[in-house]
Amino acid sequence: MNRLALVAAMPEELQALLDTMPDETPVRRGGREFWCGHLHGVEVVAVLSGIGKVAAAITTTLLISEFKVDALLFTGVAGGLGPDVRVGDVVVATDLVQHDMDASPLFPRHEIPGRGITRLPASPALSEALARGARQALCPEALGQGGPLSDVHLHELGLQAPRVHTGLILSGDRFIGTAADSQALRQAFPDALAVEMEGAAIAQVCMDLALPFAVVRTISDRADDAAHVDFMRFVSDVAQRYSSAIVAQVLRSWPAHP
Ligand code: SAH
Repeated sequence: MNRLALVAAMPEELQALLDTMPDETPVRRGGREFWCGHLHGVEVVAVLSGIGKVAAAITTTLLISEFKVDALLFTGVAGGLGPDVRVGDVVVATDLVQHDMDASPLFPRHEIPGRGITRLPASPALSEALARGARQALCPEALGQGGPLSDVHLHELGLQAPRVHTGLILSGDRFIGTAADSQALRQAFPDALAVEMEGAAIAQVCMDLALPFAVVRTISDRADDAAHVDFMRFVSDVAQRYSSAIVAQVLRSWPAHP
């Protein structure tokens, strides 16, 4: 496990990673800048996936074919769907579904046509490493002084003890910003914890090209009518700090993992 891809959906999150890389050099491919260098002693390629499934699929394909990465970690934000998944919690995907895939009646709804599969599994070992890293980075002792968030942030955002969940994440080319839409997703996938716009596309590329990957998402909103407001505030105040703190924890013990 030599070269690790770190993929972020939004510029704020990528910047937080780049800020902690001592030696990043940009390499331009497909209109994207791939930042090659090191993070906490691990050789990494950090890149913005772009928002949505196609952008994320192109970025992932380039990481594999041009940059020969050995594993991929995706960090980003998502809307919470599970009843006890709150803003500020973290979700690590065990598997991912493209909730807007529907080639019925030719194929069952949500199934990837031709593949006979609906739920795309993430690498269990990498996902476990991410969940462990998230629990360490977000434990109450680490969160406060010197941690990713100040007490002021925690108080203002009403974040207390963020929890780390593991389970199903849904992806689709739509920002879910109404209670009706998130209710429909909950009905279709009662065990879904979160919804976002890239993860399951990355999962499909990684399945076909045999790359171990894992996805971690900080919950920025509840995918309901207040989603847009919550989202903007959360991304600028919290999300990038969480991402870089979690990645730092994972990389500290990186060679020991898969
Ligand atoms: N206004 C933002 C749009 C970001 S789209 C901008 O101008 O940049 C939302 C991003 O956050 C996507 O990368 C998606 O993966 C994630 N996300 C967060 N909450 C979401 C939700 N409720 N529904 C879908 N995606 C969500």
